[in-house]
Amino acid sequence: MTTAHSGLVDEAHARRLDAEDPVASMRDQFAMPSRNDGSDCLYFCGNSLGLLPLAATAHVNEVMEDWQRLAVAGHRDARTPWYSYHEVFRDQGARLVGGRPGEVVMMNSLTINLHLLLTSFYRPEGSRTKLLMEMPAFPSDIYCLQSHLQARGLDPDEHLIQVKPRDGESTIATEDIFAAINDAGDTLATVMMGGVNFLTGQVLDMAAITEAGHRAGATVGFDLAHAAGNIPMQLHDWNVDFAAWCSYKYLNAGPGAIAGAFVHDRHASDASVPRLAGWWGNDPDTRFRMHLEDRFVPVPTVESWQISNPPILSMAPLRASLELFDSIGMDPLRARSLRLTGFLRQQLEAVPGRRYRITTPEGEHEHGCQLSIAIEGDAQQAFHDIEAMGVVADFRPPGTIRVAPAPLYNTFEECHRFATLMAESFGDSTS
Ligand SMILES: *Cc1c(COP(=O)(O)O)cnc(C)c1O
Repeated sequence: MTTAHSGLVDEAHARRLDAEDPVASMRDQFAMPSRNDGSDCLYFCGNSLGLLPLAATAHVNEVMEDWQRLAVAGHRDARTPWYSYHEVFRDQGARLVGGRPGEVVMMNSLTINLHLLLTSFYRPEGSRTKLLMEMPAFPSDIYCLQSHLQARGLDPDEHLIQVKPRDGESTIATEDIFAAINDAGDTLATVMMGGVNFLTGQVLDMAAITEAGHRAGATVGFDLAHAAGNIPMQLHDWNVDFAAWCSYKYLNAGPGAIAGAFVHDRHASDASVPRLAGWWGNDPDTRFRMHLEDRFVPVPTVESWQISNPPILSMAPLRASLELFDSIGMDPLRARSLRLTGFLRQQLEAVPGRRYRITTPEGEHEHGCQLSIAIEGDAQQAFHDIEAMGVVADFRPPGTIRVAPAPLYNTFEECHRFATLMAESFGDSTS
């Protein structure tokens, strides 16, 4: 269906963009959910739950078969032995976030990892007690930081600094983050922020924030839930102390998938950094001496933050996804993402009489895949209407629709179709 909305390009143009893009979509490697009539959904929810990479099923089946065939011997004899399964991600994980091998491990879930890392890197002492974060923030992050303060006997009302957008603005001015860091000065213990904001899609200047935090004498960590697999990063070179992310959003590893964690070399190799310990963080050579060893010998890498033996079935799908990321590379994928999201923005902003505004910043270094669209008027009903037309996106009350074209599997044609639906629902209908 083509509807001629003045301002929008025609569908053939969008198809041409798909045909000509130097980084082809890998859509045929993913399972696209379908509508009741069998047609494909317009899936723009990869920022919430990525699609199933088709190869994931084989990786999961391999674990099931090895378990069936080998039982406990699978720890050593499985096709990918379970004892060292997490090491599969050592290099891939490092490439994903710009770390060095030994700085990235896949373990646990995101908020759990934040807790483990804050235990090591939020070390209030004397008058240096404060934690600094951004608002709006994902509720889990707020609860996490509040509870860390409470666990150390500190009142969140007094010790948690929240940097907010200015009145009437949707996103945070970077200079306000620097000002808050400087104001806190030597009372600041740790900065912990979302690298890409979940609600607005704003990308923060992680390198500059890290530098500013370090200048104030604080440690600096990032929640990369919306950044991993979305934007290229250089966590090692930026000197970031710690970071964590989930793998079910842009990383397509499935619901509740194993999460990721980064600890900079200079801490990871330092056995004096306190960490909550368990046997899987211990040197693998002495790990199985069990009751014979009562002294924890941390692996001199981030792997020493692992506590329990990891869920192999949860790690298997991540292999399929990271193989696809590796086959393209984060930089070419980001270039495609900028073209896709740029096209979607341009089309949305070409809709005459539109009753919405895009709150995600436009600058190339200030946004990732996602566009956040603030709707005027009754947004909830309008969103249901859009969903009824096959769009899978998400809605954050009171009136924000979040759409995220994922460069691995979304297309220009889909962006165009979405803009056309938005024109029909929220524009002056000129067809
Ligand atoms: C998705 C998301 C979470 C989810 O936390 P889990 O521990 O994976 O349930 C937390 N924080 C942010 C910023 C997120 O985007």
